[in-house]
Amino acid sequence: MLYDRLALEIKKSNRTHTPFTLLFIDLDNFKEVNDSLGHDYGDSLLKEAASRIQECTRESDMVARLGGDEFTVILPEVSEELVIERIANDIIKSLAKPFYEHDEKMYISASIGVSMYSVDANDLATLLKNADQAMYSAKNAGRNQLAYFTPDLQTSLIHRIRLSHEMREALSKQQFFVEYQPIVELSSNRIYKAEGLVRWAHPFRGLLLPSEFISLAEDNGLILEIGDQVFKEAANQAKKLRDSGYSDFQITVNKSPIQFLRDDFLYKAQMEFMQKIGLSGDAIVLEITEGLLLQTQPIVAEKLAYFNSNGIELALDDFGTGYSSLSYLKKFEIEYIKIDRAFVCDLEINEANKSIVEAVIVMAHKLGIKVIAEGVETVEQKDILAGMGCDFGQGYFFARPLSSEKFEEYLRFAGELFGFCQTRGAPKV
Ligand code: C2E
Ligand code: CA
Ligand code: CA
Repeated sequence: MLYDRLALEIKKSNRTHTPFTLLFIDLDNFKEVNDSLGHDYGDSLLKEAASRIQECTRESDMVARLGGDEFTVILPEVSEELVIERIANDIIKSLAKPFYEHDEKMYISASIGVSMYSVDANDLATLLKNADQAMYSAKNAGRNQLAYFTPDLQTSLIHRIRLSHEMREALSKQQFFVEYQPIVELSSNRIYKAEGLVRWAHPFRGLLLPSEFISLAEDNGLILEIGDQVFKEAANQAKKLRDSGYSDFQITVNKSPIQFLRDDFLYKAQMEFMQKIGLSGDAIVLEITEGLLLQTQPIVAEKLAYFNSNGIELALDDFGTGYSSLSYLKKFEIEYIKIDRAFVCDLEINEANKSIVEAVIVMAHKLGIKVIAEGVETVEQKDILAGMGCDFGQGYFFARPLSSEKFEEYLRFAGELFGFCQTRGAPKV
């Protein structure tokens, strides 16, 4: 019906030379609500959201649900920004009000993309695509807002398509490599862990950081192969360090939820790879996110258990920024939590963050979980964390992520530089 009506509006607009507007609405965080409170709850919430959207529109407008948590609104003969903004903001405000369903109170928000016929697009498919892209830019700008389609978005789409092509080539030409950032044991200043962080040595764009390509790699699926290269490179590095005397060295590897959900065979091959090079499972720690633990598909728990049975430990990354649910910590065998750097960056002055960090450490220890603080940048932060009994620290104060050569050098000389005592059994410098 939406497509029929759009085709009709396009004809009308062509005849009368009057533009019309399409809104593309996506509910923020709906998936989390659905996963945590159940599908019945999600269904009622969608119905309530639909009727709220309808209340903000006129009789002659059309509200449609495209699927999932996506809605569209056709605003015939509307093209003045003031009117569009009033309607879109009414919708945003109305959806930001609490939802009461099944005795639960929940908040969601909405991101809205705006595209106009025939200003931004000359056909139905382009109009929908542009509104969708505008919606994504509203999401990227921090959600709970509206964004207009602009030709820039088109350019960024073209950029993504190009980068996607280059990524395939990068995989075969080994342009991805891993840098290592030390993780320091705060009670002893010993370094026997490091996080592996992927980089892309792009032939003409320079060194690209994960923020510039991981989300694209997740969208186009290449994250599976990139992740596989990262895993093997990290495993080889761990083997090399263990063989050269750092006998309990561990390297942590980031794994995005997409890798858990879409990978059917690489993960088993990775375990075989470790066996082949003679590396025991406890040399690798997987860093996962809370979002993954919220997934209800049995395959997630199965894979986590599989890794566990191979001796691989799990760390919960970016703790404190998501659900931070205690029940997940108990349900899965989590060995470490990594407190997000948002809580660490102002520890010296922010009493609230200090209390949160302290509480997280106490709670984790009660559950038998070790704590790694991320983003430690100053000696004061390091001392506060050590005083609270935090187990490990990671951040620019100790070192930035380093190439494997620089990292090995760092391990050898960190002892002298900072008075760090090196890994048991490590060569003395
Ligand atoms: P993350 O797991 O939270 O990694 C830590 C990020 O914080 C790294 O950024 C690191 O360079 C940065 N960092 C470390 N110490 C400090 C500090 O003291 N201050 C500040 N301001 N920043 C610090 P990077 O390398 O750009 O990585 C960004 C994100 O990309 C990572 O966040 C991780 O989620 C993702 N990522 C990195 N490598 C991989 C990978 O191989 N696979 C997947 N799936 N994701 C990866
Ligand atoms: Ca990480
Ligand atoms: Ca992190």
